[in-house]
Amino acid sequence: MALKAVRGTKDIYGIDSEKFREIVNKAVEIFNNYNYEQIITPIFEETSLFQRGIGEGTDIVDKEMYTFIDKGKRSITLRPEGTASVVRAFLEHKMYGEKKLKRFFYYGPMFRYERPQTGRYREFNQVGVEAIGSYSPVLDAEIIAMGYDFLKKIGINDIEVQINSVGCPVCRKIYRDKLKSFLETKYDNLCEDCKIRYEKNPLRVLDCKVESCKKETAEAPIIIDYLDKDCKEHFEEVKKYLDIFKVPYKINPRLVRGLDYYTNTVFEIVTNKLGAQGTVLAGGRYNNLINEMGSKDVPSVGFAAGIERLMMLVDKEADEIEKGVYLAWIGENVKEYAFFISKILRENGIKVIIDFEEKSMKANMKKASKSKVTHAVIIGEDEKKTKNMILKDLETGEQELYDLENIIIKLK
Ligand code: ATP
Ligand code: MG
Repeated sequence: MALKAVRGTKDIYGIDSEKFREIVNKAVEIFNNYNYEQIITPIFEETSLFQRGIGEGTDIVDKEMYTFIDKGKRSITLRPEGTASVVRAFLEHKMYGEKKLKRFFYYGPMFRYERPQTGRYREFNQVGVEAIGSYSPVLDAEIIAMGYDFLKKIGINDIEVQINSVGCPVCRKIYRDKLKSFLETKYDNLCEDCKIRYEKNPLRVLDCKVESCKKETAEAPIIIDYLDKDCKEHFEEVKKYLDIFKVPYKINPRLVRGLDYYTNTVFEIVTNKLGAQGTVLAGGRYNNLINEMGSKDVPSVGFAAGIERLMMLVDKEADEIEKGVYLAWIGENVKEYAFFISKILRENGIKVIIDFEEKSMKANMKKASKSKVTHAVIIGEDEKKTKNMILKDLETGEQELYDLENIIIKLK
């Protein structure tokens, strides 16, 4: 039987790997402009980190984790998201001692045992950010602006920024009770998952993707009406700074996000181009997560974006011509010399395509024109003797003779 990649995983190659790299490179560039530094955390952690950090009662912890016992009898989990690990690292290395806002970005694979479908995999990649150490609503707005900026810069245009506030634990409790009494009247018509959510985490009923649940809860009370004074003010400031940063947004009162640790601002950037998997970037403020994991109260904001979903939205030309040379060598006795030259060119930062097999001039030129580089370098017996080489511009067809030193200058 032929071996295949495991269900829900995939290989990324060809044009897709180029897209992947461009998305990551752009993210790094933009996040750097906002003064974020990279953090690289392990891909697996102790299971309890995610149980505490993400919370029991969430889909991720209850159903989706890849957990196993290692040979040392530890319970290990492949990370399903990035925030818990970044926060663990922050606490473990006592970065709070530095008394300032820490801004991190990360990227890499995440693992969730979900039903695979378009834009939904069991191994997928995220790029994300976490800013730890500030209550300021300017931070919330700045992070949303950064996410928006990033999506624009990779060429994704049909997007909508949705924001909401889920308040603090105090006003959320009041809202939660209100919502529960509303849902009680609809209980029989809710889906099976929502019946459980009603008990465990009623806000998440608003997040349900099932049409009948959406309909039943259309008239549900909204949390913004229940925010206390501080939470309301915080939300107003976030909106004000979004205006200052020129980020268009829409308030979505049903936006609650899947995870429990969020406080105040939550946001998603969505597209209508990917069907049900329309959220490409999502995040919010979490003031209590760190408290939950350590003893410190460290207010933070973060987001994560799914790289595969972004890849589906960015266009890329398959045949972009790149700066570099196709090195054609004519005659078996110039082969060694040609390969020596290829090494010198590459050492000097020039991309070189060169074949191992001997070819006629004609066959070489045919390959050169297909190779998606700007130039061909031709080396035959004469060129070897005179230590020169022919440089051909593959676009104009112009040819000129150069020595090694000058061809390097010319190509750089
Ligand atoms: P969804 O509602 O789509 O399940 P989520 O709330 O679980 O998303 P987050 O945990 O906030 O998503 O992750 C942030 C982003 O990561 C999502 O917006 C999405 O782009 C991407 N993502 C999440 N799960 C998957 C997956 N299984 N496959 C591919 N991308 C994913
Ligand atoms: Mg999910």
